[in-house]
Amino acid sequence: MNSPAAPLPAWDAPLPETLGHAWIHGEPRMSAEEPIASVNPATGAIWGEFGDGGAQAVEAAVASARSAFRGEWGRIGGAGRAALLSAWAARIAEEVGQLAWLETLEVGRPIADARALIAQGPLLIGYYASLIAALEDSTDGAIRRARGVVGAITPWNFPTANVLIRAVPILAAGNTLVLKPSELSPRSAILLAQLASEAGLPPGVFNVVPGSGHVTGAALAAHPGVDMLAFTGSTRTGQAIIQASASRSIKPLTMECGGKSPQLVLPDMIDQPEIWPGVFHAAFWNTGQWCSARTRLLVPKGGLDAAVEGLRAAAADWPVGDPRDPATRLGPLASGKQYETVQSYREIARQTAHVVPLSATPDANGFYAAPELALGAPQDGALVQQEIFGPLLAVQEYGDLDEAIRLADDSAYGLGATIWGADRDVTDRIAAGLSVGSVDVIGIAAARPGLALGTPFEPRRQSGFGIEGGLAGIAAFTTPQAINHAG
Ligand code: ADP
Repeated sequence: MNSPAAPLPAWDAPLPETLGHAWIHGEPRMSAEEPIASVNPATGAIWGEFGDGGAQAVEAAVASARSAFRGEWGRIGGAGRAALLSAWAARIAEEVGQLAWLETLEVGRPIADARALIAQGPLLIGYYASLIAALEDSTDGAIRRARGVVGAITPWNFPTANVLIRAVPILAAGNTLVLKPSELSPRSAILLAQLASEAGLPPGVFNVVPGSGHVTGAALAAHPGVDMLAFTGSTRTGQAIIQASASRSIKPLTMECGGKSPQLVLPDMIDQPEIWPGVFHAAFWNTGQWCSARTRLLVPKGGLDAAVEGLRAAAADWPVGDPRDPATRLGPLASGKQYETVQSYREIARQTAHVVPLSATPDANGFYAAPELALGAPQDGALVQQEIFGPLLAVQEYGDLDEAIRLADDSAYGLGATIWGADRDVTDRIAAGLSVGSVDVIGIAAARPGLALGTPFEPRRQSGFGIEGGLAGIAAFTTPQAINHAG
């Protein structure tokens, strides 16, 4: 018998007022611009607003970041930075619940999943802090210097994790930061910067300017006082940002953009029922809203039935519903815009493929979309070639391995791939044939895809450029200075 469910927290519990303002030089800064409304994706209702920073706040934040770089942060040294970053990690560990709630409220992230991912944030910080000493010991003769003021523009799909993945290596390398979070998810970013200030990071080291992409984001990208720019988001926005970044100055960039990553099930794995929870996770986690989602499934000829049966069974463990409920594993899509986009691809799926729904869409006002398969989606069609950012998995059959590699690699994107197969010779050959930055090879049927933080990789093609992860991922935010002593 089911025990009665605990009541869900109220949506309208009040939030600290400072979460609605920019965080500049260690304090909140009000904006004179028109505020931006926030919509709850689980209900479709407007529930609040926050200040759009605009160009003026960007100006103030860049000036603050410059003075912090010239001042205490520039002099503090690697050990001092590592200690302060560790203090920040400890504060984040204490606020996991509040950060997770902000994600649930702003973008509909299921609360349990949000907590689990955010709880890894302090580990990420500890990991990068531990690499600072190695960065300083570089032995090639040059000295590694921080680049200065780094701008970062981040998306909404994992609001906290995406900010930390960008911000931590930037700060560990000794830079100061001006962050423009997505207009869908500004508050967790502002809270992270507040926690950094509380932990003792000097004013100006970590500034957050919330606001729209086309005004506030564009002002940050174009600012000549920004020494380097790091972007995570869609390829189309990446193109606009590259152009804006070069409008008044030139600056180095890192771009982590879209993806349409394949997962290949090899003949030795297709009859192993244990693989399907992992295949499902790789495709549908976060309601399919992540750039590395494995949204194309390639199975050997005759394997479609096994895929449908296996993924239907897996879907039973991923309830779609209210993101406040700890039992929910798939929440709504993050915005009405995202919902419209997914609906248009579902329509294409109905016209060009055989659609198999994996679970029922909740009967609620929010932006809900349950997972679906599009069997036999044509290789040159939108379902296989375009990033959807939603719970729609294109499933295709291949004949031999050469065809599997050809189909998997026939993409404008180059972010990742997953190979389900136990034969190393075969999986090595496939990996070498794929123009992607990162390949998960899963040879044990019950294994889950994971994030290998310590291994550097770089997106390719329209997925972007710039090394992430490992020592190289911090070094990317430094620049070598040669000091030539004469006499
Ligand atoms: P989505 O289309 O799903 O909202 P984007 O890739 O457009 O995702 O957004 C990623 C980030 O880029 C967000 O912080 C957004 O505000 C920002 N952004 C969008 N357009 C621009 C732009 N023209 N210039 C700078 N930043 C932008």
